[in-house]
Amino acid sequence: MSSEINRIAVLTSGGDAPGMNAAIRAVVRTASHFDLHVYGVFEGYKGLIEGNFKRLESRDVANTILRGGTILKTARCEEFKTEEGRKKAYDSLMAYDIDGVIVIGGNGTYTGAKYFTEEYDIPFIGLPGTIDNDIYGTDFTIGFDTSINTAVEAIDKIRDTASSHNRLFFIEVMGRHAGFIALETGIASGAAATFLPETDWGIDELLKMLRNAAIRKKLFNIVVVAEGNKNGDAHTLAKLVHENLTNYETRVTTIGHLQRGGSPSAADRVLASRLGFEAVNALIDGIENKALGLVHNKLNRESFNNAITKKKSLDNRMVEILNILAM
Ligand code: ATP
Repeated sequence: MSSEINRIAVLTSGGDAPGMNAAIRAVVRTASHFDLHVYGVFEGYKGLIEGNFKRLESRDVANTILRGGTILKTARCEEFKTEEGRKKAYDSLMAYDIDGVIVIGGNGTYTGAKYFTEEYDIPFIGLPGTIDNDIYGTDFTIGFDTSINTAVEAIDKIRDTASSHNRLFFIEVMGRHAGFIALETGIASGAAATFLPETDWGIDELLKMLRNAAIRKKLFNIVVVAEGNKNGDAHTLAKLVHENLTNYETRVTTIGHLQRGGSPSAADRVLASRLGFEAVNALIDGIENKALGLVHNKLNRESFNNAITKKKSLDNRMVEILNILAM
């Protein structure tokens, strides 16, 4: 081991995501393997500012791989957006003699890491922990797979009721700016239609489909709605359909925060374990200020700036699949 890294800190920040604990566990155990000391920082950047650190050893993360949420807790911290806040965070890191920091979070967390590392000489490594899957430089984020599995499981149950009563259900899933969750939930749940923030597909097209459904003998019962789509929320869409086609009885279900919780899927646990392991190795290898991810199942490292500013787009082929299979 050729590094001067002896003590590292790990934190989770922004919205919690299933698999964050698996990532923390991987960091702690990989670091222990290389005889590094690990400090868990509680409540994200807030804990960094307040010096809320606790030494973590391998046994401290026992039985956490299966738990949703984050054992380190998370927070939104306005103070870290200021130079004074980041100076306090630097002082805390100095007080604990920290040589490298691993942050697990989304775009906001990476933005904080970018500013901090432009001002101070302590290397940061970022891991993509967010259910939204909207981070450039990784095919999947930690938490995304669990989140879509939760949504699909809920829709499967709703479908039983929908087809028994001949009702049209509008199911709202998360995704204010990006339709990754809605796209994959729509495909996997066999939704008859899916509203995405990225496409212009709208209410007129839906009404047309519904008018044709009877002719095509199609049972039309599930519509997936990304919260950030351009046509309004699920309630608005349900109301519009009922006003235009009074023979349709509509219902709305918002999956909401159910999508954030729960035990992580095997895929999220494996992703988190791989990236947690690679994050510690990156610090040992002297790699500084990179956001890690997997692209085509291979490790990828992006600058924080790229990860924040480059847009990860929906795969057009997947959108085509979504639409064609819904016919
Ligand atoms: P999610 O995608 O789940 O919302 P996130 O990491 O994007 O996760 P945010 O709340 O946007 O969540 O950001 C987390 C924290 O990162 C913020 O509370 C703040 O402390 C820090 N942060 C966000 N933006 C900035 C910024 N412009 N400068 C410095 N720090 C920032």
